[in-house]
Amino acid sequence: MDEPGTYLWEPRCPAEAELRALRDSVFWQRPELEEGARQEWEALLRSADLDAEQFIDGFNEVVGEYEAARRVLELFREAQEGGLRGTHTEPDPDPRPGRVTDPVGSAPVADGPVPDGTTAEPGPDADRFLNLAIVWPLSRKTVPADRVLAAGRSYELRVDIGALSAESLLAERPRPFPGDLLDHTDDDGRGDWLEATVLGDDFAVPVRRHGIFLPQTGSSWVCPCPPHAPHACEPVHRGAHLYIPFTTLGEPGPARLHLLVSYRGNQVQSAALTALVGAAESRGGDTVATVDYTLTAGFAQLATLPARTAAVRVGRPDGGAMTIDVIGQNGPVSSFWLTEHQVRGALKDVRGALFGVHAVNREDGSLENLIDENNGKPAGDLRRDLAALAHKGADLFLLLARSKPEREALRQALKAPSEIQICQEELGHLTFPWSLLYDIPLDTGVRPAPCDAGWAEIERRDAARSCPAESGHGRNTLCPFGFWGYRHFIEQPPSAAPGRRLRLWAGREGEAPALTLARSLTVDAPLMDHHVAQLRRHFVLGGVRECDRKEVLRQALVDAAGACVYFYAHGRRPDPLTDAPATTVLEIGQGERVTPRDLASWADTSPDPDRDEVAPLVFLNGCHTLDSDPASWLTFVEAFSAFSAAGVVGTEIMIEQGLANEIGEQFWEQLLLGEAVGPALHKVRMTLLRKGNALGLAYTAYCSAALRLRVAA
Ligand SMILES: [Zn+2]
Ligand SMILES: [Zn+2]
Ligand SMILES: [Zn+2]
Repeated sequence: MDEPGTYLWEPRCPAEAELRALRDSVFWQRPELEEGARQEWEALLRSADLDAEQFIDGFNEVVGEYEAARRVLELFREAQEGGLRGTHTEPDPDPRPGRVTDPVGSAPVADGPVPDGTTAEPGPDADRFLNLAIVWPLSRKTVPADRVLAAGRSYELRVDIGALSAESLLAERPRPFPGDLLDHTDDDGRGDWLEATVLGDDFAVPVRRHGIFLPQTGSSWVCPCPPHAPHACEPVHRGAHLYIPFTTLGEPGPARLHLLVSYRGNQVQSAALTALVGAAESRGGDTVATVDYTLTAGFAQLATLPARTAAVRVGRPDGGAMTIDVIGQNGPVSSFWLTEHQVRGALKDVRGALFGVHAVNREDGSLENLIDENNGKPAGDLRRDLAALAHKGADLFLLLARSKPEREALRQALKAPSEIQICQEELGHLTFPWSLLYDIPLDTGVRPAPCDAGWAEIERRDAARSCPAESGHGRNTLCPFGFWGYRHFIEQPPSAAPGRRLRLWAGREGEAPALTLARSLTVDAPLMDHHVAQLRRHFVLGGVRECDRKEVLRQALVDAAGACVYFYAHGRRPDPLTDAPATTVLEIGQGERVTPRDLASWADTSPDPDRDEVAPLVFLNGCHTLDSDPASWLTFVEAFSAFSAAGVVGTEIMIEQGLANEIGEQFWEQLLLGEAVGPALHKVRMTLLRKGNALGLAYTAYCSAALRLRVAA
């Protein structure tokens, strides 16, 4: 009975039909409805051996006993009546006046003959598609796309996966459902259980996951069986469609929602829907929906991927806005929408704040490094730095979660240390500074009070990821664990080319990792010599190949020489005369410039039999004598995928050479010890934090947090 509208027997009385409809409506999720009432009503719906009279007695007992249950029932009845009266255009979904006593979902087969052709079984090799339509409850007739939805009224989303339906809102630009990427391990190998969730602030949608079963061939179905168990149902118990109820809110205007289909917490496909809501139903509506995310083979190792506590899916539908869906372990949290402009602004702001932690402009225009020779800062400075970053991070948090329920849901879902996967279908040139998000409420302009327990925890354990006094974090508390970057492992893998998978290993089997070092010769020589000596010590088995010239670097990359590629180099602004705008240029040797186009050109003109096997890990350590040059490595993340890179790690700002040395050495040391990228980067951050330095937050990993080096035994 987990699915709306699928019950194994006819309702015994109108009250049972009504209770089923209530159970499947958004009113069931109202927070004031007592949990006891919910449970007792559920128990009635599950009791096969009651007769009509006993059912009605039980039903009325709940109404008599629970005050909120009575009110919710009244609201539900009002909404049903209001919804029916509110129809001003034909066809009317159900002309019968009065309270709903229609046996919603009572038929043993949830669907009669389907007029839109979705029951036409797709052939065994035919593509299957996600079909999506809005229907009126009760009649379950399709609401035409040119219909304005009435405010405050309930509708249902009709969802299935199968042959493309002519009535599907996604029929215009269909994208096949990537069913091949699933493991086919459910129901004794006959198919896969998927979860569908709907998110959207513009509609009232019950927060829950809906199970939907996709057999290896043919159309999906819904049934009363618990997800992931073998089917105990018979074909007559199965419905061809999943119906998800939602209610429009009071405000007229365009309203958006997101349908996500996921597999064991990994998102497989999603669609964004926009509909016009008006005071009443009328013509002149324009309901449109597009598939805005499809899992590619890049994420296809679903069975082997570590389970994620939370997934953040970033999509860029046609409007150019970034949509961000956060899915917690227990269901959807929320869907956020950011414009490119907002993301750029946020990133610029954060880079500025990070740079302010690192250096100040002197009166004469030169820069003063604020980090001492031990790469640390006095404790008082760290508090000031973290407070400044927390204010930026609180802005980011508000940008992401604009309403109170969203913020509450997000805080709740990501309260404990989590593994967050940021799935971005197309990386574009946009990133969001996830590590800097700060989720403890902060007033503007205040100096937040330090959380002593949190600070003590940093001293106590360098692997700590949560504050022992977390429940005591009141308003205006400054705790390091309020930053996502100190609390979570955040992975941001770029989606790989078709046929490639998200890498969990870098390097060749049975071979000690070697380092390809692309270095600048225009940096401080003693500091660099010291750094190279340290690296040689770490890579004593595999060796270090120094590349001081562009041609030598090209050869090393083409030869797939090392499991590790390290740019100890300077990031430059593009030259407006010769470089593409919005790219960072890496400078190596004596001012030789390496651009993403160089990498593409090198990769395109060389055979790559081995590269795929090596799948190097690339670390872009943007260092220099201190300056405020930009360091956006995003274009390089994509460029290195042409060399089958397993992942790219880079800085968001230029880092002073001495500090960059320590970070680079620590990172590679951890990796060579067998640590994965996520924990290794966290350890680097914590080590610096213990010295009073918050700049560990300036490094981002564009790969799986579980990525490891193959270290030969
Ligand atoms: Zn079943
Ligand atoms: Zn704390
Ligand atoms: Zn510079």
